[in-house]
Amino acid sequence: MTIPSVYESGFKCRCPRCGKGPLFTQVLNMRETCSNCGLDYKFVDTGDGPAVFAIFILGFLCVGGALIAEFKFGVPWWGHVLLWGILTPLAGVLLLRFIKATLIALQYRNKAEEGRLERK
Ligand SMILES: [Zn+2]
Repeated sequence: MTIPSVYESGFKCRCPRCGKGPLFTQVLNMRETCSNCGLDYKFVDTGDGPAVFAIFILGFLCVGGALIAEFKFGVPWWGHVLLWGILTPLAGVLLLRFIKATLIALQYRNKAEEGRLERK
């Protein structure tokens, strides 16, 4: 079994060990185990990491896009409400999926976990 690259399993939202089993049941809900190789996903602890990256990336893109829409194209206020009110949540969910899957793959690959004073 070849181990998939971190970015490949992150982009496809697949298991970090086999690269085949899906990570999520719906949009962002984690599965218990990998349906292909049986990897237990209990080790997953991404915390607030995906949200922080998504906020920074989306904030930059949306504020930049709103400024361009306002000053270059003269979009009215209701256009901003429609455009950014729909686009921002959709892009946020999509971005969260990819970032969360990538961080899970990085955690698995680097065996990242909380620090301990004693060895197991
Ligand atoms: Zn797997």
